[in-house]
Amino acid sequence: MQATELHQLTIHEAHELLKQRKTSSLELTKSVLKRINDVEGRVRACVTIAEDIALKEADKVDAYMRAGHEITPLTGIPALIKDVICTKGIKTTCSSKMLQNFVPPYDATVIEKLNAQKAVIVGKTNMDEFAMGSSTEHSAFFATHNPWDLSRVPGGSSGGSAVAVSTDEAIYALGSDTGGSIRQPAGFCSVVALRPTYGRVSRFGLLAFASSLDQIGPMTKDVTDCALVMNAIAGHDPRDSTSVPHPVPDYAQHLVPDIKGLKIGIPGEYLVEGMQTEVRAALERAVDKLQELGAEVDWGVSLPHTKYALAAYYIIAPSEASANLARYDGVKYGFSAGNASNVIQATERTRQFGFGPEVKRRIMLGTYALSAGYYDAYYVKAQQVRTLIKQEFDQVLQRYDALVTPTSPTVPFKLGEKLEDPMQMYLSDICTLPISIAGIPAISIPAGFADNLPIGMQIIGKPFSEGVLLRIAFAYEQATDWHSRKPPLS
Ligand code: GLN
Repeated sequence: MQATELHQLTIHEAHELLKQRKTSSLELTKSVLKRINDVEGRVRACVTIAEDIALKEADKVDAYMRAGHEITPLTGIPALIKDVICTKGIKTTCSSKMLQNFVPPYDATVIEKLNAQKAVIVGKTNMDEFAMGSSTEHSAFFATHNPWDLSRVPGGSSGGSAVAVSTDEAIYALGSDTGGSIRQPAGFCSVVALRPTYGRVSRFGLLAFASSLDQIGPMTKDVTDCALVMNAIAGHDPRDSTSVPHPVPDYAQHLVPDIKGLKIGIPGEYLVEGMQTEVRAALERAVDKLQELGAEVDWGVSLPHTKYALAAYYIIAPSEASANLARYDGVKYGFSAGNASNVIQATERTRQFGFGPEVKRRIMLGTYALSAGYYDAYYVKAQQVRTLIKQEFDQVLQRYDALVTPTSPTVPFKLGEKLEDPMQMYLSDICTLPISIAGIPAISIPAGFADNLPIGMQIIGKPFSEGVLLRIAFAYEQATDWHSRKPPLS
């Protein structure tokens, strides 16, 4: 695709222009800010637009580049960040009333890493409150709209980031994924997004939802950009004890359009009941394409424990959330209800008014599952199931380089359609949850449309096989043009 305006560029295209001094960081940043101004009224992807900070930073980066310093792939390039990742001096709200005015005194490690490359952070994106949800309708502030059809959801919880990338409000974005929150909205908005292996990217400064599941990952316009952002954010961090001290490969080296002989399996359990026929048809076409490109495809893979993933996730994630969210007591930081006659009442009122209904539902579920008498029956059982799911993936992935599934069972649903029925909402993550439970990586890439609504393909791999996933995704992307289609927003 030949981009006509600066905000339409990918990271690698913008980088080339910066290197050749054909544009500046300031021009890029201004173009993105103008785009935000033009489309935000319709899509509402952003919670905070840090215009002054971004313009000042872009100016500084331009001076730095003019002085002849080395330009790395993200230097001078404007990004938006999901509002669950701490940005020093820029509000980080988690789309919650609880943190509506919270300005972190420090940067998350991923932000430090972007800053080390002199990236330009333009603002923060809307999300489901505390990343709990699949539609971005659980934001305490406003819902975000899908740019492919404004009456539909963008997915969630990283809906703002997905929309921002798809509408060119940012050159790229960061999201976070606990049970699918990077991949599902990427599928719904037709962008590329990678959930890294658990431990690959530091969680320091990521406001915790479920610590054994949360991971930060890139949301980008193409697979090449995804590799470039991974290069920047991956790696060990002594401040996150779950981050893994594996060396980080150069993911860009994996971008070769050759998948001859790679073994790709399609697990039958992911072609679930209730899956839309168009989604299944798109997956079949995508798999045919992979086969045409030389992959050895097997439709006979089975992961029978998949059916327990949703139940296990909705015990484990809320349990961890109930512990993590105990810190919001109105004393240390964030919202404080005031007007209470004692400390218990103050805490109760703070939590009553500070948290929205979905967050309360999770805290109650988790507290129940962890309470004496139920702990063994629910929490321990769910952890045992988790181990079985993980072992099953490990075994199957000994025989295959990757597994392929749809990212979601349906195309984006209507705003409001699942809001009153938590179970229906939870089911929209049925294809992404098991991967989170197993701690393995998966990428979602654009793989077609049904009536102009996006369909995503998920490619799943062994721990630390992000390079293989990027290679398959890259080969598919080179052979198709889904990723270059843009939503019908003028
Ligand atoms: N939709 C899932 C949930 O509500 C996953 C969310 C996420 O990955 N943050 O828990």
